[in-house]
Formats: sequence, structure tokens, C-alpha cells
Amino acid sequence: MDDGKEQEKMIQENIRSWAEEYAVENDWVLNSDKTQLNAVIRGLARNKIRHGERYCPCRIRTGDPNIDREIICPCIYHKDEVKNDGNCHCYLFFNNGK
Ligand code: SF4
Repeated sequence: MDDGKEQEKMIQENIRSWAEEYAVENDWVLNSDKTQLNAVIRGLARNKIRHGERYCPCRIRTGDPNIDREIICPCIYHKDEVKNDGNCHCYLFFNNGK
């Protein structure tokens, strides 16, 4: 595996560990559909590599870091989304059905 791929894999695994812990802290769960889950994690990792931050892969960046900081995962919207819709916009975090 080349260095770039190796680095991307490592970042993905860091994000996965962070997301698992963060879900537990909030009494949520991660998407049980592994294909969808992996796609979001891949998107977050790519944004981290390309744009320097874990920007939400499901939202449009403006290019202004002051505005876009709102959509660094976990974005400013996710708690309301999980509460009101049962999951965040990207289908990363879900309430656990309690
Ligand atoms: S919608 Fe979900 S995955 Fe996207 S930034 Fe917000 S919390 Fe993260």
C-alpha cells in the first residue's frame, strides 16, 4: 500500500474510534449499515486530508473557514437532528431507540 493510502486508512480508523466513543458518550449508536457507515467515514477522512478539517461530507463548504467551522464533524446541527429526526444528516449518529 502506498503512503497516501496508508495515511487515509489510519485517519479513517481514528475517525471511527472517535465516532464510536462519541456515540457512547451521548447514548447514541453508529449507523448499523456498514456500507453507509464506511462511506461517511471515508468522506470525513478525505475532507481531513484535502481540506485540513473533518468537514461534513454531506454538506457544502463555503470555502470560508469561519463559516465552515460549523460543519466540522460533529457539526452544530447534529444534536438537534438526532433528537428530532433520529439521526444526523449524514446517517452517522443515530439515537438508540430509547
Ligand atoms: S451530519 Fe453527522 S457526519 Fe455530518 S458533520 Fe454532522 S455529525 Fe458529522
